[in-house]
Amino acid sequence: MSVDHKLSMSIDIENLTKTYSGFAALDDVSLSIKSGEFLSLLGSSGSGKTTLLMALAGFVRPDAGSIRFGGREMIFEPPHKRDVGMMFQSYALFPHMNVFQNVAYPLKLRGYKRAEIRQRVEQALATVELDHLIERGITEMSGGQRQRIALARAIVFEPKILLMDEPLSALDKRLRETMQLELRRLHERLGMTVVYVTHDQREALTMSDRIAVMSKGKIRQVDTPLNLYERPANRFIAEFVGESSCLPVSVEGGQIRFQGRALRTASQISGLQQPSLVVRPEKLQFVTTDAADFNLLQGRVSDVIFQGESQLVQVDLGEGMAVAIRRPTRSSSDNRLPVRGEAVTLGLHMQDTLVVGEQA
Ligand code: ADP
Ligand code: MG
Repeated sequence: MSVDHKLSMSIDIENLTKTYSGFAALDDVSLSIKSGEFLSLLGSSGSGKTTLLMALAGFVRPDAGSIRFGGREMIFEPPHKRDVGMMFQSYALFPHMNVFQNVAYPLKLRGYKRAEIRQRVEQALATVELDHLIERGITEMSGGQRQRIALARAIVFEPKILLMDEPLSALDKRLRETMQLELRRLHERLGMTVVYVTHDQREALTMSDRIAVMSKGKIRQVDTPLNLYERPANRFIAEFVGESSCLPVSVEGGQIRFQGRALRTASQISGLQQPSLVVRPEKLQFVTTDAADFNLLQGRVSDVIFQGESQLVQVDLGEGMAVAIRRPTRSSSDNRLPVRGEAVTLGLHMQDTLVVGEQA
């Protein structure tokens, strides 16, 4: 038995602004989230993620703008009338209550009858596979179990929208990765609209249907994980999402030039401000100096780092520029790695030759 509903709602945010004594924590934010979508707000600390989530929940009153759930204006609705479940980094479980009482809390608040509370709590705990611990005390639970209980509490009243603010950041790496996949599966099963806050780009890439990248109270790009990674709108996004080196290039006669050579690129280069070549470590390969079909970069190996499943080779390109190449560790026979100080030629396919500007 588990909570099994396919109820969700769209979220439309328009021109949302929130200032704190003149400082814009949210600066004219507009974003549409589809019903049933898993959308992550990704940004470094202080970029406005929590403020936006709290505005959705109804705990922060924006100065201006509109928030609609399923087309209905929410700006003046109090939190308990918004039909949203919430989960935070700190579990915010009540330590003096047992597991049952914690999960039952939102139902009591909403005036559910005793028998229905019992049934729904059991269902919610079954969903997170903790129904066998229903009578236990909170203090007996591990970090991972507490986080699951917090999740059960967030979904127990079957909200159409689930808001999560860095819910996994207190867990160790292994447990965090397990929980990421569990949350994704839970979302697939329950189908509610999820807005998920994280500062961890890898977590956002792993979990989301789409990601909205925030900085300084603004949304900078909204796209699928793949597009964000392969087609960043500008240098800021390219550096924030995934590993990359951004190398300054010049434009001459409609051509991008680097190290005295023209680069073939599929990127739109006209009108770019301060263009940079974005190089991801896995897109590069070692080639010979006469290799066709590649853009060539020339440099000298500065470091070779063994990382278990892969090896990272750092290459100095001169003039203060450097790139890294990642190579999977395969059988020991094809692992002839260059040594420090060796001159190397690196190849980059035209379709991987990404050129971006400073700003969108
Ligand atoms: P994030 O969650 O991305 O780390 P926040 O939304 O918490 O960012 O904060 C965005 C900015 O707004 C920060 O500079 C923060 O200091 C400021 N801020 C947030 N809440 C308040 C508040 N209640 N009073 C004053 N400043 C605030
Ligand atoms: Mg925050």
